[in-house]
Amino acid sequence: MQFLTSGYTQDPVEILNSAKFHEDGYNQMVIVKDINFYSLCEHHMLPFYGTVHIAYIPNGEVTGLSKLARVVDVFSRRLQIQERMTKQIREAIQEALHPMGVMVVVEAQHMCMQMRGVQKQGSITTTSDFSGAFNQAKTREEFLSLIK
Ligand SMILES: [Zn+2]
Repeated sequence: MQFLTSGYTQDPVEILNSAKFHEDGYNQMVIVKDINFYSLCEHHMLPFYGTVHIAYIPNGEVTGLSKLARVVDVFSRRLQIQERMTKQIREAIQEALHPMGVMVVVEAQHMCMQMRGVQKQGSITTTSDFSGAFNQAKTREEFLSLIK
């Protein structure tokens, strides 16, 4: 349980800053997709798990790609709800890199829907959060088509 909640003692912005590089030459979308995560819902303390897809458009600064996956670990290793986790990942990237935009999509299965309650197997819950350039539908569509 200590491991599953170890994200409380880690600072995601610090992790992103620890591998931040100045890079003016690239200002198109950076995408890391299919980042696995396992989390626990804060209501039932049952697992929810799935994948996270992240895109950001640099504004002079980029971070190590593995750091984006580490940020997912920091927020998933807490008692969570999927909606909040999605937003927290987006906000940490925004705060550390000040990019032109960030978009995060999370797809997950929730054991509290499968083992109890409605007992529906295999349904996927999708959440997304975005900022900046991703307010344009065209930019979101580009990201969504690249993560399919
Ligand atoms: Zn639950």
